[in-house]
Amino acid sequence: MKKIVFATNNRHKLEEIRRITAGTLEILSLADIGCNEEIDETGSTLEENALIKAVYIRNHYGHDCFADDTGLEVEALGGEPGVYSARYAGDACRADDNMEKLLTEMRDLENRNARFRTVIALLCDGERHLFEGVIRGSITREKRGSDGFGYDPLFLPEGYNQTFAELGNEVKNRISHRALATAKLMHYLLDRFHTV
Ligand code: IMP
Repeated sequence: MKKIVFATNNRHKLEEIRRITAGTLEILSLADIGCNEEIDETGSTLEENALIKAVYIRNHYGHDCFADDTGLEVEALGGEPGVYSARYAGDACRADDNMEKLLTEMRDLENRNARFRTVIALLCDGERHLFEGVIRGSITREKRGSDGFGYDPLFLPEGYNQTFAELGNEVKNRISHRALATAKLMHYLLDRFHTV
């Protein structure tokens, strides 16, 4: 069976993808290939960062690989925090610090439009593919809800009147940026490697 590394150790992401590809692909985690290094995300776009991780694994470990990167892009802030979403309020900051900074930056802004965007880079049999998932929405004026992670308490997806953190993981994982990008990747992989 074809083996592909998913450049993550996130148990939830791995379980989800392993369930979908069972019988078609063997998905290896970073731990499975003995990779303990922090791969520096030095790119200036989500695409670059996803590719940096996938290329690193292929060059150092010789495996076909896919890797993802996600950012929150706020229209009135010119797409910020974007690729810097994880460390918007500084290196080693917490999600709360990032949310406080975002609320402060947007205090006087009427335009609250924002989107989450995930990019997945796949390196497979010498080819390179990118898959994108986007969900549009807006940024609330205060935190709401306690589920999820990152900026979830501030993000109101279009068509809903609850934030990601209020909607909970079941709903979020059906409609999210990551779910959409992952579905495109899975569609491609299953189409390509399914043998029956
Ligand atoms: P990563 O590329 O998945 O590591 O995401 C980078 C950063 O974007 C995270 O540290 C979070 O701050 C933010 N982020 C990514 N996905 C989500 C999400 O689904 N909800 C809220 N914040 C997210």
